[in-house]
Parts: sequence; structure tokens; C-alpha cells
Amino acid sequence: MSLVNCKKCGKLFESEKDILCSKCSEELDNPYKKIRDYLYGRSNVNIIELSDATGVSKSLILKYIRDGKVFISGK
Ligand SMILES: [Zn+2]
Repeated sequence: MSLVNCKKCGKLFESEKDILCSKCSEELDNPYKKIRDYLYGRSNVNIIELSDATGVSKSLILKYIRDGKVFISGK
């Protein structure tokens, strides 16, 4: 990990590869917002249901899960 400046707001944050801080990337990340909105208040969702409901590809959802951005409890 190394410290980098966010390309949008200039905030220092720790990252390996991102150019935006978590707050800015979250704002830009529409697929992520869709997923988060869908997951809000739902406790048992699987990737297939999430992908169908949001139109976000399963591979992108898996990436978010790997990155620790999304947590789902369904299987
Ligand atoms: Zn930022």
C-alpha cells in the first residue's frame, strides 16, 4: 500500500491502484450505488439475484465483493 492523492478531491488515501478516494469512487460508481441501494434492507441476496435486479454483471459484483465493497449473505 502507498499513499496517493485522490485525482478528484486531492485527499490523501492509501491505495495500490485506485486513483480516486473511496468517497469519490463511490460517487462515480453507478453500478456500485445500484448494488448498495438494492442490498439496503435486504439480508439474503445472492449474486445472480443481485445481477438480475441491478443489471450489473456478475463479474463486476464479484470484483466488488473481492474488494470488500459489497457484502452479501446469500449463496
Ligand atoms: Zn476524493
